[in-house]
Amino acid sequence: MSSSTSPQESVRRQNLGALLRYIHVRGATSRAELTNRLGLNRSTIGALTADLATAGLVDEGVPHETGRAGRPSIVVRPRSSRVYGYALSLELDRLRAARVGLGGKVLDGRTAQRPPGPDPAPTIAALVALVADMQRSAPADAVLVGSGLAVSGSVRHNLGWADETIEPELAGALYPRLGPSAGPFLGGTADLAALAEHTRGAATGADNVIYLHGDAGISAGIIAGGRRITGYGGHGGEVGHMVVHPEGRLCGCGSRGCWETEIGERALLHLAGRTVPTPGAAVAAAVQAAQDGNPDAQAAVAHAADWLGFGVANLVNIFNPTVVVFGGTLSELYLAGADHVRNRLHTMALPACRAHVALHTPQLGDDAPLVGAAELAFESLLSDPLYAARS
Ligand SMILES: [Zn+2]
Repeated sequence: MSSSTSPQESVRRQNLGALLRYIHVRGATSRAELTNRLGLNRSTIGALTADLATAGLVDEGVPHETGRAGRPSIVVRPRSSRVYGYALSLELDRLRAARVGLGGKVLDGRTAQRPPGPDPAPTIAALVALVADMQRSAPADAVLVGSGLAVSGSVRHNLGWADETIEPELAGALYPRLGPSAGPFLGGTADLAALAEHTRGAATGADNVIYLHGDAGISAGIIAGGRRITGYGGHGGEVGHMVVHPEGRLCGCGSRGCWETEIGERALLHLAGRTVPTPGAAVAAAVQAAQDGNPDAQAAVAHAADWLGFGVANLVNIFNPTVVVFGGTLSELYLAGADHVRNRLHTMALPACRAHVALHTPQLGDDAPLVGAAELAFESLLSDPLYAARS
């Protein structure tokens, strides 16, 4: 925003952003509801929606069905098929990409295996190929507003792929196809899954949220006071390396007794006396064996769920969240051992901190990181709709 922007213009831009964000999150909304919710008068709402319609960001029209007598209030809808972003997810064993319309509508999607090996170049080329493939089927008049990338903590740390490498390399590779506004903006898998569940999932309306994601490791997305907490370099939330058991097992990070050595995929399999080579499906297999009555698997699930509760109680004491979401492999572990988790929470968390905590699995399922990456893609548009739509 230039320094010559008048105060009135600045307020108008803020209002346009708030209005478009409301429609992006809630979908088609009547002008009457917008007037109510945004605390602006009817003529201001009418002028703002007209500006957004002229910019091609929303459509205005009569509601499909009102069921009520009287003149219906005009409904404002996001132009999901015209305005879109790319959402990408870089996981340990696979790559996912989606073309997502304003309003969060998934318009197209692709999945591929992650190329093996320690060199990031083939992975970046594979992500670009997924985008290029979707770009071919995008309508000619559609407008790209950005892209977001969710990167698994296991990829960041196990492979040692620094964000400082992935982000500029991918941006450079996408630029010739998508132009300068494409990004991508980058976030951790748990961090973006937390954003997604907070915006349109199990933690809607909650401003203090912890999303715990399990794959080969454990990481957390933390929202405090409505803001994502990611730390200086975006590496905050590495709760898997919180030491909970100093006499415990060695961790891949070089430390001993990290939380993921007690609740991670490898720990659960070790305890259950199993070797299941398929990553991701291993925890589900151990949980299933426990449900089928295998005593070793039952003991392993009980042990891991108890340690899950141990760590959650500590996090609840620190952040005082109202929602904790268990994603990835932790979803299965939580569902199988919820009593153990609750028991630890009851005995270890302070009453004031645990009183208002709801425990959930992700409403968006495995798509949560991808949905969160899409939210990053839309961020600059929602911050300043007319400027971003013009550029
Ligand atoms: Zn560790």
